[in-house]
Amino acid sequence: MARTSHKAELPSKTCLTCGLPFNWRKKWAREWDNVRYCSERCRRSKNSTAVSGAARKNPTIHKPEG
Ligand SMILES: [Zn+2]
Repeated sequence: MARTSHKAELPSKTCLTCGLPFNWRKKWAREWDNVRYCSERCRRSKNSTAVSGAARKNPTIHKPEG
């Protein structure tokens, strides 16, 4: 009996920058296929690694002890 509900399930994606899932937005209706970031902020900072929790490469830095 699953009739077309009013609140349809919106498609969601995972932001490539912050790694958090985000839902479809009306402003992305035309470019949803190309949307890969949850916000413009992430879109801009796609190059910088200001993410916590995500798998990031940590360059091994040898700190002098003492
Ligand atoms: Zn994001």
